[in-house]
Amino acid sequence: MNYLQSLSKKDLITQTENLAAEERRITTELLKHLCEVERRRLYAELGYSSLFQFCTLQLKLSEGAAGRRVASMRAMRELEKHVSIEDTLKSGETNISNLSQLHHFIRSEKKRNRKEIPENVKTTLFNQIKSKSTRECQRIFATLSPLAPPPDRERMISGELTQITFTADKELMTLLTEARQLVSNKDANPNFGTLFKILTKEALVQFRKNRQPRPTKKDSAGKEGEENFGLTNANANANANANANANANEKSQSAVVKSTPAPELMSKTPKAQLQQSPGSETPQPQPQPQPQPQPQPQPQPQPRKSLTQQIRKQVLQRDGYRCTFVSQKTGRRCDSQSLLQIDHIFPKSMGGSDELKELRTTCRAHNLFFATQIFGLGKIESELKRN
Ligand SMILES: [Zn+2]
Repeated sequence: MNYLQSLSKKDLITQTENLAAEERRITTELLKHLCEVERRRLYAELGYSSLFQFCTLQLKLSEGAAGRRVASMRAMRELEKHVSIEDTLKSGETNISNLSQLHHFIRSEKKRNRKEIPENVKTTLFNQIKSKSTRECQRIFATLSPLAPPPDRERMISGELTQITFTADKELMTLLTEARQLVSNKDANPNFGTLFKILTKEALVQFRKNRQPRPTKKDSAGKEGEENFGLTNANANANANANANANANEKSQSAVVKSTPAPELMSKTPKAQLQQSPGSETPQPQPQPQPQPQPQPQPQPQPRKSLTQQIRKQVLQRDGYRCTFVSQKTGRRCDSQSLLQIDHIFPKSMGGSDELKELRTTCRAHNLFFATQIFGLGKIESELKRN
C-alpha cells in the first residue's frame, strides 16, 4: 500500500475510479459467462446440482455474492431483447443488487398472479430502478406490490444461532396457534423457535417413515412419455434464484417429486459402464457418460407404464436418497437430496427395463443433463420454454 501514499490526490481518485469501472466490466462479463454456463448446463457436468452451487463451490463466491450474480444474470437474460443491461451495468447506471431485486420481483409477481409480467412492464420496471439506490429500489417494488411478501432471510447471529425471517399467511398463523396449544404439554408457552423445533422433529419422524416418491399426474394415468424430462419441476427450478431464498433451496430437505423417463445414454457407451452398483446400499461412484460429438439417432417418444411406488422406493433406498451422478471430469458426486427423480439408465425405447439394476436416482439438474445428451440442447431449451 506504500506506493499509494505517494500518489497525488488526483491520481488516487482517478485510479480508484478506473478500478471501479474495471470491476463493473468484469462483473458484467462474469454474468454473461454464467448465462452460457447455465445454458449448456456445464455445472451439472461438473457434478453440481445448480448454478448457485457451482458459484459457491467452484468459483468460491460467498452465498450472498453468488445469489446476487445468478439473479442478476437471469434478469439480464429476461430483458436482453428489450434493453441493454450490459451497458447500464458497465456504466454504473444499474448494479447487481438492484437487478437481483428486479428478478425476484418479477418472479414473485408471476407466482402471485400465476402469469408472466408483460415484457413492456418489465422494461418499465428496469427503467424505473436505473440510477436508484438499493433502498430506493426496495421502496419502488414495495409500492408497486404492497402485498408481496418480502423474501425469506437467514442471518447467522452466532455460531449456534440463526435468525430466520419469513412471512406467514393467515392459514399458517391459524395452524401455528393450534399447534402451540397442542404442544403446551411439552412447553407451556413456546416461542416460534421452540414450536418449530417440536413440530419439525415430529414431522421428520413421519417423513422418514413414509419416505417415497410422490405420484405424478402421469403416474396416476399409468402412462409416462419419454420426452417428459420432468420439466414441470424443472421449470420451477429453472427460476430458482440464489439469494437467501435460493440458499434455503440449496439446503432443502429430501423431496422426491417426480419420476422421469430414462435419460438416454449414448448408444456407443458400453452398458456395463453405465450402471450403478445394483442393489448396493451405497452406490459406488461411476463415471457418467459424456456428450458425444456425433449426432445420435433421436429416440421416439413411446408411452409406457410408469414405475411402481415400490420400485421407486427400492431405488431411492439403494441410492441413499441422493443423486448418483458422478462427474467424469472432476470425480465429484452430486450431493443433491432434493427433487429426486428415478431414471432408466437405458430408456425403454432403447431396450431398457424396469429392473432395479437399470434404474438410478438423479436430481433434476442431472436428469436434464442426461436428457440433453440424448435429445440435444436445442430440444431441451425449447421444452423448458414451452413449460
Ligand atoms: Zn445431481
